[in-house]
Parts: sequence; C-alpha cells; structure tokens
Amino acid sequence: MPVADSYDGFLIDLDGTVWVGGEPVPGAAAALASLRRAGRRLVFVTNDSRSSAAELAGRLREIGVDADPEDVLTAGAVTARAAARGRRRAYVIGAPALKREVEEAGLDLCPPAGAAGADTVVVALHPGFDYSELRAATRALHAGASLFATNREPSLPMPDGHWPGTGAILAAVEFAGGRRATICGKPEHELFEQALARLGTPAERTAIVGDGLRSDIAGGAGARIGSILVLTGNATRAEADEADPVPDHVLESIAELA
Ligand SMILES: [Mg+2]
Repeated sequence: MPVADSYDGFLIDLDGTVWVGGEPVPGAAAALASLRRAGRRLVFVTNDSRSSAAELAGRLREIGVDADPEDVLTAGAVTARAAARGRRRAYVIGAPALKREVEEAGLDLCPPAGAAGADTVVVALHPGFDYSELRAATRALHAGASLFATNREPSLPMPDGHWPGTGAILAAVEFAGGRRATICGKPEHELFEQALARLGTPAERTAIVGDGLRSDIAGGAGARIGSILVLTGNATRAEADEADPVPDHVLESIAELA
C-alpha cells in the first residue's frame, strides 16, 4: 500500500523537505498537488521564525505549491500564541517577523528599557542578538516574567559550517535569568497540537513529513501521529535505522509521496 494511503492529513516540514537551502526539492510541488487532489489535508510547519506565514506561503507559491498564509504554521506564531495566554506585555529577542507575530497574538512589545515591566520573554533566533538584549531579558525574568522559546537547537548547518542556533541564545538567557523556557516549536507538543487543530484530522490518520530525526520524527512520536522521514536533508538511512524513535517510513524524497 502506498505510504500516503495510510493518512488523511500531513504536517509538511519546509527546510530539508520541500526545499534545501532555497532550492526546491525536485518533484515536491507535484507530490503535494497530487496529495491534495486525492483529498489529503496539508499544513506546512517550520521551526524557523525569521519569516512570517505570509512570506513562506509566497515562497511556496513561487515553487509551484498552492499555499495561503493559513496553510503555514511557524514556530514563531505558535510560540507567540502560547506566550499570549493570560499575559499582556512581552520582551522579545528575535527577528522582526517574530515581533509582528507577538503583537498579532495580542501582546504589547516592551522596549529594552522597559523590559522589567514585561510579564513574558519570548526568544528565537536572530543574528543581531547582543549583551543589551540579554540584559533586558535578564531584568524581566528576575522581575518574574515567564520564558518561552521556539526551539532548543544548538546550531544550524550552514554552507561554511555550523552557526549558533536558538538554543545557544536561549542558554545564555536561561543561565542569566535563572529560569527554564517552555519550548513551543518541534519536537514539543504545542506546535503539533495547533497543527492538528488546523488540519482537523484524527491523530491516527495524520503524519509528519520531515528531514529531522530529533525535531520532526521525535515530535511526531510524542504527538502520537505517524512519521515519515525524507532523506533530502541531514539524516541518512543509517541514522534513521539507529534512531529512537525510528520513523514509521523512510523515503528518499517527498516526491515519493505522489
Ligand atoms: Mg527540516
């Protein structure tokens, strides 16, 4: 039986799955179109909070994938909504797209000088992270603010080697602030819960398709949905065999889902 027949809804990872470093994976757009023609529901999910859902939907359309902003769930948006529950003022360490998500979730943004008045601190990757941001977040946390972050990834593979990831920035904030963050992106449950709510398919008929063993596959297992590893990103078949949890299916590429 083809893998796609086991599921009615799919969470589709973007980087390493639909595109790799900006280049579309050959056959990805055709495979996604054929899933939709067969009545499957799709939501695109990413731990990258540097682009908004609207920007990512635009990038998907550029490579031939039909997508509206409502079809894309970023860890930034998921984290912003979680941070906004019962809170009013946020100090944000992150890219402009994350700051917009936090405002759209209903929180007021605190400037660094007013960070001690924030009731939540939200952390994600941005290359301008510096000591003054760390100082502002530290003041907020010691004044009682809660702490949320998109993920805990230590580093990012880049063409010239590894760059520090969100987890590296978060480690500094947690250490100075004396508080541990609630993580809302993959592999934690918040992103999966919001994605399942958007798909409306039952967990046992839903699967995540992604290239990350620790983010996509582990998160899928935690959310009790199916998991499909694609080998167009970082993971190899040998690593998939050794992984815990192991993916339910391993495909060379998302194109094989057609
Ligand atoms: Mg990926």
